Amino acid sequence: MSPTLPRIGRLAPSPTGALHLGNIRTFLYAWLQMRTCGGTLRLRIEDLDHPKHKPGADQALIDDLRWLGFDWDGPIVYQSQRHALYRAALDRLSPSLYPCTCTRADILGAQSAPHPGEVLRYPGLCRTKDPARLAPNAPCALRLALTPADDGRFTDCFAGPFTQTADETTGDFVLARRLPGQPELEPSYALAVVIDDAEMGITDVVRGDDILPATPAQVVLYRRLGLPRPRFWHLPLVVGPDGRRLAKRHGDTRIAAFREQGFTPGQILSALARSCGWLSPGETISALPDLLPRFQPTSLPVHPYIWPGKL
Ligand code: GLU
Ligand code: ZN
Repeated sequence: MSPTLPRIGRLAPSPTGALHLGNIRTFLYAWLQMRTCGGTLRLRIEDLDHPKHKPGADQALIDDLRWLGFDWDGPIVYQSQRHALYRAALDRLSPSLYPCTCTRADILGAQSAPHPGEVLRYPGLCRTKDPARLAPNAPCALRLALTPADDGRFTDCFAGPFTQTADETTGDFVLARRLPGQPELEPSYALAVVIDDAEMGITDVVRGDDILPATPAQVVLYRRLGLPRPRFWHLPLVVGPDGRRLAKRHGDTRIAAFREQGFTPGQILSALARSCGWLSPGETISALPDLLPRFQPTSLPVHPYIWPGKL
């Protein structure tokens, strides 16, 4: 990709709950990356049907972002309004799809459980079964039959080479699901994220490194669909003192909770910027734009940031 092309980044939160420090640390990087290079930054709400989605969470996260001082360009994109795009991609891929009726227990029964940080690999159990065994509207997942050409390895701009293939990470991954009683296929995250990033012209994807093992599948999709692939920047997560991904047991790290306790955006952003090496210990800023001259893409530590429990 030519460095002279205009760069387009994105924030892509899921309305599964309130934004917390971990989300915001990644968004800070994405915002600063585009705002320091004259690029464009889009906001996309990843609100495809998901059991964990909370009503009203989309507006709450927009409010949190604005309160912290984030801005973005163009209209907000909602995945729930883009089914036609996903359907068109599914049609193109349909010769390579097969229906799968396995439960999580079936998949686990066929192999060992994934280790933390791994995804559940699908070992192809339904690949050779007759699709005609299912009624036309029977609930199922549609999986992509990988071929040896579907390698999926890539080099991450932050994390370096990722050496596992799509077959080794996800296996034949899900592109859509037919849910009971629903006429419309529900696209998977892997399908929607690739279609959206490509359609929105995203050149730089900044996100948490928990998504690294799901990325070879996405790289495969770009190639299958003949779409240009963005650069990836997978950043280390914020974890608790136990080394596990930030969660309720580590205390309330929701932005809304800090706001209710009287903390200012500057205090929250300063703490995160210090953890990224953009401010020295004890140094503070008062608003997001104060970080523009301090942004250094490579000063971010490669290991997870251990949340010390207070700002
Ligand atoms: N919506 C995803 C999340 O909030 C991020 C996906 C992505 O950036 O590709 O975890
Ligand atoms: Zn199956």
